[in-house]
Amino acid sequence: MIRFCSLGSGSEGNSWLFESQQSDRLVRVMVDCGFAVKETVARLNRMSLSPADIDGIVVTHEHDDHIGGVFKFSRKFGTPVFLTHGTWRAALRSKLSAPEYLHTGRVRLIDSHTSFCVGSLFIHPFPVPHDAAEPVQLLIESDTGFTVGILTDCGSSTPHLVQMLNRAHALILESNHCPDRLAMSPYPESLKRRVGGDYGHLSNQVACDILSRLDSGRLQQVVAAHLSKTTNCPTLVQALWEAVLGPRGIPFRIAAQDNGLEWVDLNTGRLEAA
Ligand SMILES: [Zn+2]
Ligand SMILES: [Zn+2]
Repeated sequence: MIRFCSLGSGSEGNSWLFESQQSDRLVRVMVDCGFAVKETVARLNRMSLSPADIDGIVVTHEHDDHIGGVFKFSRKFGTPVFLTHGTWRAALRSKLSAPEYLHTGRVRLIDSHTSFCVGSLFIHPFPVPHDAAEPVQLLIESDTGFTVGILTDCGSSTPHLVQMLNRAHALILESNHCPDRLAMSPYPESLKRRVGGDYGHLSNQVACDILSRLDSGRLQQVVAAHLSKTTNCPTLVQALWEAVLGPRGIPFRIAAQDNGLEWVDLNTGRLEAA
């Protein structure tokens, strides 16, 4: 069994929780923490959880909406942090952590191609094209083989990431912007180029293209994530994704910045009341 939820998804902060049974207890992994500690605790409480319930935080990359709260949370509650060498170096450069923190044993450096475990959860990272030092996205697998893929903050599709995501039974996939809305947005030209570029964020169209390439027959659930408030809207994503997933009978939902996403149970696909 594995289930997951979001504490919030979007450019103002991201955090996901994955939970699985480990013998007589539950193991919980947080992926990214882009919220301040107080806000993170409040959002955990909303899901009836406290900081002590989190066994580790996996950080995908050093952008503030993913790493902003990570080290403060870790320092306060003793939570181990898993991140690539490149992300750690970037965190040091921006003074999010001090080098000495490595010696507390709470910093676990990972390789962007090597799987590791947090309790009974297997984490399989894979590199993605995004304008960060050493960004990864993840497959998270329970000990019974149920696998959730997560892909946000990615500028373009690659054969490797499609191959990885094809192993997933559920998928959290970025659908960041509508290219037309991005072009017409008030953003400066440099930001438009960054967001829409090969190392920026996935447009609705590229997200749909990735979805149409996933043909393993395993996919039971999909979540649209990291929607831009300025250059996208949930109604548009709903229509575009329905056209791709509807005929295949695959249900999907949209994660929100403020309310995140309630628990999704991978066995049943049910939404559970928080
Ligand atoms: Zn982001
Ligand atoms: Zn990013």
